[in-house]
Amino acid sequence: MKENINDVRLSQHFKLSEFLRLDKYPANIPTMQVVANLTYGCHQLLEPARLLVGPIIINSGFRNEAVNSKVGGMKNSQHLTGQAADIRPKDPKHFQQLVDFLKSWEYTDQLLTGSGWLHISWNPLGQPRHYVRIGYYK
Ligand SMILES: [Zn+2]
Repeated sequence: MKENINDVRLSQHFKLSEFLRLDKYPANIPTMQVVANLTYGCHQLLEPARLLVGPIIINSGFRNEAVNSKVGGMKNSQHLTGQAADIRPKDPKHFQQLVDFLKSWEYTDQLLTGSGWLHISWNPLGQPRHYVRIGYYK
């Protein structure tokens, strides 16, 4: 049977395909290290957050160099290593609850909020920085 990258499950509610957007960026293929980092984020941040606010949409997850520069990401973006995701709750009325939770969550490395969505990052190999900027993206 042929393995399909779109079927790979990182945690109970999150699939690898949600973090890649291969429909839009067919060459956005992660390394095993990136997959390991994404898996960490799913288990330590996204699943606990989902438990609280219900389904979460991944606007942007892993980005290879080409995708990252295409979307205007920073050169040292944590999206490049699978250590960040831009997310929003499927039900917009849970946005503030999601922010409040991640703001004080022990595994949050960076939390930057936009309008109705937020950038969250994690650091599997070190201490989370708990760097929080509300209204960072205008
Ligand atoms: Zn981001």
